[in-house]
Amino acid sequence: MENSFKHFAGRLAEFIDVSRDGYAILSADDTLLCANKAFLAVFFRPETELIGQSFEAIMRTVFDTQKGPRIDTDNIDSWLNRVQQLRRSRDFRLFEVDLVDGRWFLFSEQTLPGGEMLIQAKDITKQKIVEQHLNEHTRKLTNLALTDELTQIANRRSFVASVQAEITRCHRHNNAMAFFLLDIDHFKNVNDSFGHQAGDEVLRQVARLIKSTLREYDIFGRIGGEEFGIFLAQTDRDTAVEVAERLRQQIADEKLYIDGRELRITLSVGIALARNKTSFEQLYADADAALYQAKHSGRNKVVVAEYCVIL
Ligand code: GH3
Ligand code: MG
Ligand code: MG
Repeated sequence: MENSFKHFAGRLAEFIDVSRDGYAILSADDTLLCANKAFLAVFFRPETELIGQSFEAIMRTVFDTQKGPRIDTDNIDSWLNRVQQLRRSRDFRLFEVDLVDGRWFLFSEQTLPGGEMLIQAKDITKQKIVEQHLNEHTRKLTNLALTDELTQIANRRSFVASVQAEITRCHRHNNAMAFFLLDIDHFKNVNDSFGHQAGDEVLRQVARLIKSTLREYDIFGRIGGEEFGIFLAQTDRDTAVEVAERLRQQIADEKLYIDGRELRITLSVGIALARNKTSFEQLYADADAALYQAKHSGRNKVVVAEYCVIL
């Protein structure tokens, strides 16, 4: 049995010598005892410069020469400190390492009870490229699923999801919240007079204009057709009315140009306010009732929901 294992180990060594995977053994005091060619190639150094060196000395040279594994730090001492705490913290560790030249390796460290460590490094560059393409693809698909194709702002689904998350956060902190429903006035006339494509262009321009007036963390989306939603967290009644009025005025003052023809449009805005427990559906219903009042009292108006609850 002993003999046959030795035979096996001997054969294994032949394979390891020519393997594309890197193999190295470190002593209990962290000196590199031996390594195959593939391992040396990861560090871009000849055997004579690596064998007998400590892990720390090897990594300092990697940092100084910027060849081999990428070390993302300004301070090699604190980087080494962090890494040394992880190393030998368990008898087996697995982690990915990217090289300055763009290759990726899956490293494993296996420690024996005596402290000697076997390092294996497997080239996973191909898998990483596939993974990066997949991630990019997923990111694009997710973006597509969340973005309104025409205006490139949040679509209804992602808008509602963002608002619901923010409502929950506002409840937790007992923050006031404001929800605006904005609807372009007589938009049908735009389509009828200028054509559907011109109507689309108006929607794009209006979305861009509204977005430019908002803060980065305000939630804005296209609810459907020529109807948009805005959610403002930590916003009291006076501020909400001020923001909506400013927005209404800005849109009304703006000259839009479609195929060289000047066009003006106006918006009606319904505002719902809440602090206590509420839902997106409740905010929407309140804002919609206010919007209805805005439309019926002449359009190009801002109406707050409480004013219009007439039973
Ligand atoms: P009001 O002032 O009462 O809101 O009148 P309105 O004409 O804006 O409202 P109405 O709901 O009667 O008509 C909305 C129009 O918006 C009808 C529809 O054809 C048009 N519309 C909806 N979505 C789009 C779109 O994506 N592109 C274009 N060009 N038009 C759209
Ligand atoms: Mg309309
Ligand atoms: Mg409408």
